[in-house]
Amino acid sequence: MLTPSHFRGYGMTKIKWKSSGAILITAFVSLTTSAAETNHGWTYTGNHGPAHWGALSEAFHACESGRAESPINIEGAKKAPADMPRLKINYAPLPIDIVNTGHAVQFNATPGTDSITLGDHAYQLVQFHFHSPGEERFGGKESVMDAHLVHSSADGKLLVLAVQFKLGERANPVIQAMLDRVPNEAGAEMKVTAVTVNPLDLLPKNKGYYTYSGSLTTPPCTEGVTWIEFKEPMTITKQQLDAMHHFYNGNQRPVQPTNGREIFEVD
Ligand SMILES: [Zn+2]
Repeated sequence: MLTPSHFRGYGMTKIKWKSSGAILITAFVSLTTSAAETNHGWTYTGNHGPAHWGALSEAFHACESGRAESPINIEGAKKAPADMPRLKINYAPLPIDIVNTGHAVQFNATPGTDSITLGDHAYQLVQFHFHSPGEERFGGKESVMDAHLVHSSADGKLLVLAVQFKLGERANPVIQAMLDRVPNEAGAEMKVTAVTVNPLDLLPKNKGYYTYSGSLTTPPCTEGVTWIEFKEPMTITKQQLDAMHHFYNGNQRPVQPTNGREIFEVD
């Protein structure tokens, strides 16, 4: 059973201190042993890289034997049937809560705050994180970076909104707020309750998307995840991409076989 806590990070101890005025900063410093146990030492390269994830733990079985894995190359999408459930996004600003997970820069959402609905199904935003290069391919092309906004429903179903980024003149404010505060140490967390970001600023104006059923792109590679891939990319500056690469460059799982899965296109 996967709960949102599975996507928040690893075993951590908490250190709190007060800074000037009303800003409370909380840092979480990882316990090396528990982090290693939860992680099973997976990486993006070498002996613990994507081709070996399934062998690192029985819990990672789907990484090797799954038939509906992510990411995929999006092509040959069919027009969505008219009765396909509609996506509705209800995001509001969230206080800063950033984790350097050891695999990505991640923002933890305040539980029960931001939600989306797909038809009658409600999903809460749990966290969002970034991959560079982007994991999904559109017609074989990869982007410089993507954002994955991970949501969970009350009955434990997962839905990820994915956004591609291209280089441009316009800096992304959410990404900048994060880059200004990401802890250098893997496993560390930074909370700043006095500063908020709105995850809506990560999403393109045009909400057209591709959708298919896939998996988590990191161990345990759990399937049954609804993917919604916005077609229109957002922009980040070269400076922002370089700053992201200071933390992670190459946290990208290779493309997985589609195995006949249907991909739908929603305008
Ligand atoms: Zn991801």
